[in-house]
Formats: sequence, structure tokens, C-alpha cells
Amino acid sequence: MNKQKKKLPLAMQIFIALILAIVVGLLMQSQAAFTENYIKPFGTIFLNLLKFIVVPIVLFSIMCGIISMKDIKKVGTIGLKTVLYYMCTTAFAITIGLIGGNIFQRFFPVIATTDLAYEMPEKTSVMDTIVNIFPSNFISPMVESNMLQVIVIALLLGFSIIKLGEKNIGIVKACNNINEIFMKCMEMILKLSPIGVFCLISRTFANIGFSAFIPLAKYMIGVLLALAIQCFGVYQILLKIFTGLNPIRFIKKFFPVMAFAFSTATSNATIPMSIDTLSKKVGVSKKISSFTIPLGATINMDGTAIYQGVCAIFIASCYGITLTPTQMLTVVLTATLASIGTAGVPGAGMVMLAMVLTSVGLPVDGIALVAGVDRIFDMGRTVVNITGDASCCIVVSNLEKKREARKSARNA
Ligand code: ASP
Repeated sequence: MNKQKKKLPLAMQIFIALILAIVVGLLMQSQAAFTENYIKPFGTIFLNLLKFIVVPIVLFSIMCGIISMKDIKKVGTIGLKTVLYYMCTTAFAITIGLIGGNIFQRFFPVIATTDLAYEMPEKTSVMDTIVNIFPSNFISPMVESNMLQVIVIALLLGFSIIKLGEKNIGIVKACNNINEIFMKCMEMILKLSPIGVFCLISRTFANIGFSAFIPLAKYMIGVLLALAIQCFGVYQILLKIFTGLNPIRFIKKFFPVMAFAFSTATSNATIPMSIDTLSKKVGVSKKISSFTIPLGATINMDGTAIYQGVCAIFIASCYGITLTPTQMLTVVLTATLASIGTAGVPGAGMVMLAMVLTSVGLPVDGIALVAGVDRIFDMGRTVVNITGDASCCIVVSNLEKKREARKSARNA
């Protein structure tokens, strides 16, 4: 007898938990007090664990992201072009996310789905906001989960480690090891997602019934549309402009990698397949792909950035508030850094969302509203993430080919 039990994949568990939560929530509408007192607390435990892990994850993953860029100098122009391309496409991505979020918010006003109280943070001037980004001590930003200050600490430490040069080998190793420990910890916490999702969503549906579907559906359409624009619009236009590559031909060749990313929801695991496909089917040199693709999987997460932009607006709407221009700018800044700091593993983008929310004074509990459907978006944003890396790889490879051709023409 085969004793080995096949474990249900986490994505499936979450999906089942979501369906069960909706059914149980709707059935328990008359027992809202019971769900509030006995079911919701388990959801709160899940949220507390997410809040706990977000500071160390942000600190160490951004540090490691910065440290991983140390070879950029070595690879010279390729490195510069790659980082520039990544920064520009990420800025595009967040803009699309924010515009998409705003359009959806305007055309389909979101019904308040929660009774969670939101306290508007005190109004501060732009100058004060800038000053407040810089920490005056090492500990309090972490205790208070002041994400912008934690990011500044991570950037300072990351660059300091690079500056140490040869002496830093031990520290780099230690940082990467600590980062791995927190990643493992995050993986364990994310394994509790089905329970967390069940408790949080059933409570939402018990409180407000069917009307909870409408805003969730609008939000889902908003995110998927924004992701599709980046993947099938922005990247294809860039490829056409810089390389003349036909978008249909590119998608046809790259489709197996996209399908793999969609089903596994991890950029990291997609690296070997991506490098292989780009060199065998698209003709990119391994020298370029083996640098741009792993770097992209570490620091370039356009899909994740889009998702965080739309999410911030959606969650703000659920609390009945509209983000101010300064808050939007903060979202752009934190989502760009989140893009550097998000690990290419399933669910990491949702944890990083906590950072974006706290940076604009929105409650992390807002994640409860989107956690149930996160896996669907995780699959979509991973496809965007890896397609962005691939488009960069092809563009940089093309620019390098042209540069070398010019060089040899000059020498001839
Ligand atoms: N799963 C995504 C990736 O691997 C990261 C995320 O959760 O947004 O690219």
C-alpha cells in the first residue's frame, strides 16, 4: 500500500479556504458576533505574523538586493543599461498601477467593505515628510514599523557593505544567510494562509454578505487589466522600438516560460528556463542573459509594483479615503523599493504590500481584504515580472550587438 500522502498544493488549499469562507460567512450572517469573537481572532494571528515578518524581510532583502548589484561595475555598460531599463520599466509599471487604480476607483466607486476604523494620519508638509524619511536612531524605525526609515537603513547598510570591498565577503555571506532564515520563516507563515484567509474572509462575508463580491470583482479586473497592459503593451512596444522584434513572435517563443511562471508563481525557479529559452530561441548571448535574468529576478518586479499600486488605492477606498498626491508619491517610492526587495518566491509581494500600506499610514489589516485572491494575482504578476526581465535582456543584448558592430566598423 502506498502510504505516501499527496499534499494538496498551497494555492489549492487557499482557493478551497476562500470558497469555504464565502459559504460559511454567508450562512453565518445571523451569527456575526460568533464569527467576530471566535473566528476572526485566528485571522488576526495570521495578520500579526505577517506584521512581524515584514520588517526583517524588508531590511535584509533590500540589503541583499543592493549587495547583489556589486558586480554591476564589473560588467560595465551592460550593467548600467540593465539597471536603467529596470528602473524605467518599474516606474512605468507603478504609474500604470496607480492610474488603473484611480480609474477603477472613479468609474466603479468601491463600497466600504469593512468596519475597521481608519485614523487619518496627521497632515504634514512635503518638507516634513522628506525629513521624516531619515531615521534618528537605529531601533525605533523597526519597533514602530516605520517602513521608509527601515528602507533608508537597509540602503545605507547595503551600500556600506559594498564599500567595504574585499573585507566584506563574510558579511555578505552572513546577510544572505540571515535573509534565507527570514525567507524560510515567511514561507512557514504563508503556509498558514488557508487558515488566515478562511477566518478573515468568512468574517467579512458574515458581516456584509453578498455586497462584498462587487468591490472584490472590480479590484480583480483592475489589477489584471493593469498587468496585461504592462506585459502585452509596454514590453512589446519597447521590444519593437529597440529591437524590431515582432511581439507575436516573441510571445510565441517565450510562452512556455510564461506558462511555467504562471503555474509556479516564482521568478527564481524560472531563471534557468528563461536563460535557456532566450539563448536557444531568441538568440541572446548567455553572457548577457546569465547576468540580466538573475539580477532581474532579484531587483525587478514590475508585476508586483503594479499590484501594490492598485492594492494601495483599493484598500484606501475600502476605508473610505482617497490618497493624497504626497501619499501617491510615497507609494511610487516604496513600491519601487519593494520591487528591489521582493523575493522571487510565491506570496512575497503580499508581504511587501504591508510595507507599502504602512508607509502611507494605511492599516496592514487591509491585506485581509485581498489575501483570499492573492494567489491568482501572484501568478499574473510573476508572468509580468519575468517577461520584464526577458524584455530587458533582449533589448540590452541588441544594444550591445549594435555597439560592437559600430566598434568593429571603426576599427576596420
Ligand atoms: N511571486 C512573485 C515572483 O516570484 C513575487 C510576488 O509575490 O509578487 O516574482
